[in-house]
Amino acid sequence: SDSDPVDLSVLLHQTFGFPAFRANQEAVCRAATDGRDVLLVMPTGAGKSLCYQLPAIARGGTALVISPLIALMDDQAAKLSALGLRVARIHSGLSREDSRQACRDYLDGTLQFLFIAPERMRVPGFPEMLAKKKPALIAIDEAHCISAWGHDFRPDYRTLGDYLPALRPAPIIALTATATPTVQKDIATQLQLHQPALFIHGFRRHNLAIEVVEMSKPRRNEFTANLLKSPANRPAIVYAPSRKAAEELASVLGGSAAAYHAGLEPSVRERVQRHFLSGKLEVVVATIAFGMGIDKADVRTVVHTALPGSVEAYYQEIGRAGRDGQPSRTVLLHSYADRKMHDFFLERDYPPPTELARLAAALNNDYQMPDILRQRLKMDIETFDRTAEKLVSQGAAAFDIAGNLRSTGQTNWRSSYDTQLAFRRSQIDRIVAFAESPQCRMSALVQHFGDTADGLRPCGHCDFCSPERATAQTFRPPTTH
Ligand code: ADP
Ligand code: MG
Repeated sequence: SDSDPVDLSVLLHQTFGFPAFRANQEAVCRAATDGRDVLLVMPTGAGKSLCYQLPAIARGGTALVISPLIALMDDQAAKLSALGLRVARIHSGLSREDSRQACRDYLDGTLQFLFIAPERMRVPGFPEMLAKKKPALIAIDEAHCISAWGHDFRPDYRTLGDYLPALRPAPIIALTATATPTVQKDIATQLQLHQPALFIHGFRRHNLAIEVVEMSKPRRNEFTANLLKSPANRPAIVYAPSRKAAEELASVLGGSAAAYHAGLEPSVRERVQRHFLSGKLEVVVATIAFGMGIDKADVRTVVHTALPGSVEAYYQEIGRAGRDGQPSRTVLLHSYADRKMHDFFLERDYPPPTELARLAAALNNDYQMPDILRQRLKMDIETFDRTAEKLVSQGAAAFDIAGNLRSTGQTNWRSSYDTQLAFRRSQIDRIVAFAESPQCRMSALVQHFGDTADGLRPCGHCDFCSPERATAQTFRPPTTH
């Protein structure tokens, strides 16, 4: 009751065995336990899960957890089960009987946590089943997936908001590691959060010296080799813009470096990861495929040899440096040519809708565009010609969107396409602005994520705060011959 609040610290210790809350966790847990809606934005690894799990236990009853990936769901469920909590999952990887049993247990009120995938809500009868026995708390993990302005838009999340009112009055807690203020607003609107308590914290990394260097492309490999020659700057992760670029730089770096990208055999990739973790390899030159689930604490340097596609991706990638809290360095190399490259890919991925219509018509049989879409785009099978073949690869991004929308029965294809295109454009603009703007780098990043508790003090060791210590100052390329 109100006069006798649950002692969350005691519960934290008893249930999870943790001696203390991490930064901000207690305030978030308090708000959710008290029944407030919450929007929580903290970086990966900050401990967001606890912020719905502890309130769920404190409130009693069943917490409904919506999670976009089976692997995430399985991981969380296994951890909670290991703590002796009663957990069930419902996702496509499980048998029908398991799902039925999970529903029975939910209705019997014996579960403390029920994990579901968002698309489950569209299964006829399922939301009604949930509404029969209302959850005590609803957690939406990776909540940025609901926003077309988020970097990982999932159409399955789109319709979630429609089903939540019937499950009230449970508080809803939305969790994500990456939400700009625009995405935060979108999440709150779509989930129909009631005056949510906003917690946006923890984006400042005190031990990272961020450096951004304008440099022509031909000089970058040599610069990187020079930087990583010093043992103090290793282990290191280098992000390269393509498989070819990764291979090239790895060979320039030689023995203790290896390339890592999606084009390699899984066994090779696995070996590179293993050797990097053990220290046998000191440098990995990777495309974006590297780093998910890599937890190497002593990475001293992260280099980007080209401008990443978004501030979100960049932040995630530099975040792999200095997990042990020791001083670490990140260097971003860029020039106007990078911007042109991103513009080029954007135009390739998002051809004009009229072109797409022709392509869609050509692919009609394979792709089965929804009738409504075909009508809307006035497709004409007769117009198929050789150019369509070329467009197949070019239109990949657009077709993903169309396919996703079809799978969710949505028809507003064009507006979604335009939104995605505008979003991708704004991401490029934002990362270019970051690279070019004369201000403290860390403060700029913290501001990007809308961290409300940060004082935006200059970090003192980025290339803006401390230009004399920047690596680019000491790099003297040999004169060309
Ligand atoms: P996020 O979802 O923010 O990326 P997680 O919820 O997966 O992070 O938590 C990251 C790790 O931190 C987990 O191993 C978790 O058990 C641990 N953790 C969370 N809170 C605490 C705490 N108060 N004390 C110790 N470890 C914690
Ligand atoms: Mg998480």
